[in-house]
Amino acid sequence: MKKRNLRFFVALWTAKLSYRALRILGRDASHFPGVLALKFCPDFLARVGKPDTIVAVTGTNGKTTVTNMIYNLLSDSGEKVLCNHQGSNTYTGIASILLIGTALSGKSKYKTAVFEVDERSSKLIYPYVKPTYLVCTNLFRDSLTRNAHTEFIKEFLDTSIPADTKLILNADDPISSNLAPGNERIFFGIDKQSFEQSEEPNLSCDLRICPECSSLLQYDFRRYHHIGRVHCPNCDFSTPSVIQYRAESIDEDNMTMTVREADGVINTYNFPNKNIINIYNYLAAVSFARYFGVPHDTIMKSRISVVGSRYSEASIGGKEILMTLSKAQNPIACSRAFSYAKKLQGTKSVVLLLDEIEGVEKSPENVCWMYDADFELLNSPDIIQVVAVGARHLDDAVRLLVAGVPEEVITTTDDYSSVADLINTTADKIVVLYDLHCVKVARDLKTTLTEKFKEGQ
Ligand SMILES: [Zn+2]
Repeated sequence: MKKRNLRFFVALWTAKLSYRALRILGRDASHFPGVLALKFCPDFLARVGKPDTIVAVTGTNGKTTVTNMIYNLLSDSGEKVLCNHQGSNTYTGIASILLIGTALSGKSKYKTAVFEVDERSSKLIYPYVKPTYLVCTNLFRDSLTRNAHTEFIKEFLDTSIPADTKLILNADDPISSNLAPGNERIFFGIDKQSFEQSEEPNLSCDLRICPECSSLLQYDFRRYHHIGRVHCPNCDFSTPSVIQYRAESIDEDNMTMTVREADGVINTYNFPNKNIINIYNYLAAVSFARYFGVPHDTIMKSRISVVGSRYSEASIGGKEILMTLSKAQNPIACSRAFSYAKKLQGTKSVVLLLDEIEGVEKSPENVCWMYDADFELLNSPDIIQVVAVGARHLDDAVRLLVAGVPEEVITTTDDYSSVADLINTTADKIVVLYDLHCVKVARDLKTTLTEKFKEGQ
C-alpha cells in the first residue's frame, strides 16, 4: 500500500463530508464521494485502507444477486462485512465504498469485504484492491457497445486478476471456468436433471469452437446457450470433471437442491427462487460460503432472497403478478427471462419494459441485440399477450413477428401510463420483464395492477 500523504487525507475527509451531506439530503451516495476522492487524489485506491479479506464477485449476469447473498451468509455467520449492496461496481463505486468503510485515519474499519466488481473496471481496480477470493458467475455476450464479446472480456479479466487470488468458478461455463489459468480454483456446477432436455434451442452460443485447437466442440449437454458440459473431440479441452460443489439433484416443487462436496459430504439447501439462473446464483454463494467455512446450518438459517429490485411476486384476487429484471442490450439476460416466462404454468400476459424511459432520443440506436435474444420463446400457446412498451415498441413488435408470435397476441404502446389498461386481465399471470432503467415504471405498474385486482376481488 502507498504511504498516505496530505493530498490523500484532504481527498478522504472531503469525500467523507460529501457522503454525510448526500445522506442527510436523502440522495444517492454510492458514486459521487468516490468521484470526489479520485479527483483530489488520483491514486486514492492505492492509499486507502482495505479490509484483510476481500471477496470480489464478477461475471456478466448475477453479480448483484450473488454479492448480496454472500454478504448475508457472511453477516449471518458473525462477520462484520463491508459491501457495495446497490451494485455501484465501477472504479468510483469501489472508491466510494472503501472510503465509507475507512476511519478518518485512513485505516479500514472492516476485516472482511464483499464487492461486486464490473468486468470492464477490473483493470483499474484489481491492481490496488486485490481480491483474496474472486467469484465469477458466468461470462456471456453482453451489451455490444460496452463489452464487445466474451473473448475481449475474458482477456480483460485474465490480465487483471492477481496471481494469488483464489477463484470460485462455474464449472458449467466453459468460458469463465478457464479464467486466469494459473490461479488456484474450485468449481460449482449443476448436474443434468431428469426433467431437463439435452439441448435448449437458443439462438446464441458463445463457445462453439475449441479455444485450444479450433475444432468444433461437442456439447454432451447444453442447459442454455453455452452453459452445460462440453468436450473437444481433438484435444484435452473440456468442462472440469472434478467439481467441488456439485448440485446433484434439484427438486423444483419443494425448491431444494442436494449438493455433494469434494470430501463426500452431502447437504440439502432451500433455494429462494425457481428460475435456473437464480439457482446458479444461490449455488455460487453457497459454494463460496462453504469454502470460506460457513457451517451448513448457518446457511440454512440465513435470510437469503433474490434482491427485491430484481425479482418479486404477488398473488392478488386469484391473479399472480411476477416481476423480473431483464436487462435490455443483454440478449442472454432477456432470453433467460423469456424462458422463465414460457415455463410458468397457466396463461400469461408478458409485458416488455426493455427501453430507456427518457424516450427514443436516449434509446440506443442499435437494436441488433434483439436478434441475438430468443424472442422465439415468447411464441407459446399459453402466452396469450405480449405488451411491448417504450420508445422501441415497434422494433420489439417486428422482432416478435419474426419470432412467429401471432399479430393478434402483440400489443404495443409508447405510453407507460397506459400499460395497466392494455393488459389482458383474463391471463392467470401477468409477467413484467423490466430493464434497470425501468424499475420505477415497473413498480408503479405493479401498484396499479394490485389496486385493480383488489377492486375486482
Ligand atoms: Zn480442442
